Amino acid sequence: MDRVLVAGGAGYIGSHACKTLAKAGYVPVTFDNLSTGWEDAVKFGPFEKGDLLDRARIDAVLAKHKPIAIMHFAALSQVGESMENPGLYWHTNVQGSLNLIEAAVAADIDRFIFSSTCATYGDQDNVVLNEQSVQRPINAYGASKRAVEDILRDFERRYGLRHVIFRYFNVAGADPDAEVGEFHQPETHLIPLMLDAIDGKRDALTIYGTDYPTPDGTCIRDYVHVCDLVDAHVLGLKWLLDGRDSDVFNLGTGDGFSVRAVVEQSRAVTNRAVPIVEGARRAGDCTQLVSGSSKAQSELGWTPKRSNLKAMIGDAWRWHQTGHYSK
Ligand code: UDP
Repeated sequence: MDRVLVAGGAGYIGSHACKTLAKAGYVPVTFDNLSTGWEDAVKFGPFEKGDLLDRARIDAVLAKHKPIAIMHFAALSQVGESMENPGLYWHTNVQGSLNLIEAAVAADIDRFIFSSTCATYGDQDNVVLNEQSVQRPINAYGASKRAVEDILRDFERRYGLRHVIFRYFNVAGADPDAEVGEFHQPETHLIPLMLDAIDGKRDALTIYGTDYPTPDGTCIRDYVHVCDLVDAHVLGLKWLLDGRDSDVFNLGTGDGFSVRAVVEQSRAVTNRAVPIVEGARRAGDCTQLVSGSSKAQSELGWTPKRSNLKAMIGDAWRWHQTGHYSK
């Protein structure tokens, strides 16, 4: 069976990608330094512990497994942390990705799938965000991802490295079988923090800013189910296997929900009160990030199936109650 190297395969999105790749008939080889991922999450293929800052280790793993393609999920991904420590983001995300890209070229791999982000667009009020939109990130996380997109384009021009870039909107939910799910330590994301507040693992959810220029004053995001998101990656892999050209696709639904709307839906799904505190804005947060593109649907044939708030929160809640990882 063909192998696919999954950098970051022990993390939230990477582990779901491994499950979907295995179901699609590939062997997902996880490459992960376990800095934010979990060995317990590596369930669907071999595990190679390693760091993207260690080029020799990447070369050795590529030589051993001879993957037909690389999916690259390994990155630091917290907006707030990236504002606090921008150097860490430039070093880890850009240098780490450059090492992996150079190793791919050296190993003659010309199929590369990269996790980028809507944070590369920045704050663009009332502008439809499609793949042609100008990229003006307002935080170091988005800037580091945009830089890697540029590297990929340069390497395609020089070495023919064909790639698919996916710009994720807000990824949520969990495997409906609860084999894998979202588990960060520390946690910074809205839905898992809210579920912690609902079942008393923390006192309350703090809403970061209630004075944004939106109908209810809170930020608006476009939430996409992690299982739908990784389905798009398998379609991206097939796209490259079919010999198609490099391309970039937004992965979002086009529907925006405010933080208060997510709180209300969580109350409805869990049938429990959500303790909230209204707090100050978080540095680096955009007012609104909603995809204005259906290119992934029309060109890749992507059909989101579980990307509605009820299913995303319901799946996250089931995972929250049953699943966990430990070091
Ligand atoms: N958010 C919040 N309280 C929290 C965590 C997040 O109000 O404890 C808000 C945050 O300001 C943003 C949205 O929820 O508007 C989604 O944030 P998250 O960190 O989940 O993802 P991001 O959009 O930063 O990638």
